[in-house]
Amino acid sequence: MDMERYIDLHTHSTASDGTMTPSELIEYAMEKNLAAIAITDHDTVEGVQQVIRNHAVNPYIEVIPGIEISVEYEGEMHILGYYIDVEHPLLNQTLERLREFRNRRNPKILEKLNQMGFSITLDEVAAKANGEIIGRPHIAAVMQEKGFVSSINEAFEKYLDVGKPAYVSRQRLTPREGIKLIKDAGGIAVLAHPVYLEKKGVEFEELLKRLIDDGLDGMECYYATYSKMEQDQYLALAAKYNLLVTGGSDFHGRNKPDIDLGTGYGDLKIPYYLLEKIKKGLGRD
Ligand code: AMP
Ligand code: ZN
Ligand code: FE
Ligand code: FE
Repeated sequence: MDMERYIDLHTHSTASDGTMTPSELIEYAMEKNLAAIAITDHDTVEGVQQVIRNHAVNPYIEVIPGIEISVEYEGEMHILGYYIDVEHPLLNQTLERLREFRNRRNPKILEKLNQMGFSITLDEVAAKANGEIIGRPHIAAVMQEKGFVSSINEAFEKYLDVGKPAYVSRQRLTPREGIKLIKDAGGIAVLAHPVYLEKKGVEFEELLKRLIDDGLDGMECYYATYSKMEQDQYLALAAKYNLLVTGGSDFHGRNKPDIDLGTGYGDLKIPYYLLEKIKKGLGRD
C-alpha cells in the first residue's frame, strides 16, 4: 500500500474562478486524503480569510494561505505566494488595486466579442462569478452556455488566450513588485507553471536567474500538464539554483473539468515532504 501522503498547492475557489467554495475545497481535499491544500485564488485572499476566520485549525488537513498574482510579461506569468498573512494591510490594498485593473479589462473583452457577433453582457458574466473576481473563465462559461463554443477550453483557444482576437492585457505589477509584495506579507514567492512562459533551455534559465535576483524563492516543479521530462527538467533547475520545489493541480472545479484535485489528469503525485522543507525554511517547524 502507498503510505506516502500527498498535497496540492495550487487550487482556485469561488472567490476567484473555481467552482467550489473554500470549505467545499477543503472537504473534497480530505475526501481525497490529501495531507495539505493551499488555496491560491487570483488577486484575492477573500476565500482564505473566510476559511481561516471560520475554522481556525483543522486537525485533519493543513490549509495553507496562498495567492496567485499575474505579473508583467509579454505573455502570462503568474507568481504564487504561500504562508502569506492574509490580513496584511499593504497586501490587501494592492490586491484591491489589481482587481480594479481587472475590472477595467472585462468590458473591453466583451466589446471585442460583441464586435465579432457574440452577444454577451457584463451582467451575464458577473452572474457566473461568486466572489470578487470576474475573469476570463467566467466569460468562457457564458460563451459555452450560449452555444458560441462547445467548451471553456475552446473559448480560450479561439478567442481569449494571449494572441487571440478577444485578448486584452491589463495593468500588472512587475515580477519584482509581485515577489516583494508576497514576501512583505510574510510569504514565499514561487514561479507558477513555467511551462506556459514558452521559453525553453538557455532562454528560460536566463529569465529564471532574473527572477531569482528579484527575490524568487521557489518554482512549481509538479503540475497537472507537465510531461515526466518537463518535471525532471524543472526539478533539476530548482536543485541547481537552490529553489524550493512546489507543485499543484491548478484545480478549478467544473471550469477545468479534466483536472482533478491532487491528481490532475490522473497521475499527478506531490509528496508531503516538499512542504516540510518549505516550513523549515520559514522557521515554522
Ligand atoms: P484571467 O484571470 O481572467 O486572466 O484568466 C486566467 C484564468 O484562465 C486562469 O485561471 C487560467 O487557468 C484560465 N485559463 C487559461 N487558459 C485556459 C484554457 N485553455 N482553458 C481553461 N481555462 C484557462
Ligand atoms: Zn484561475
Ligand atoms: Fe496560473
Ligand atoms: Fe491557477
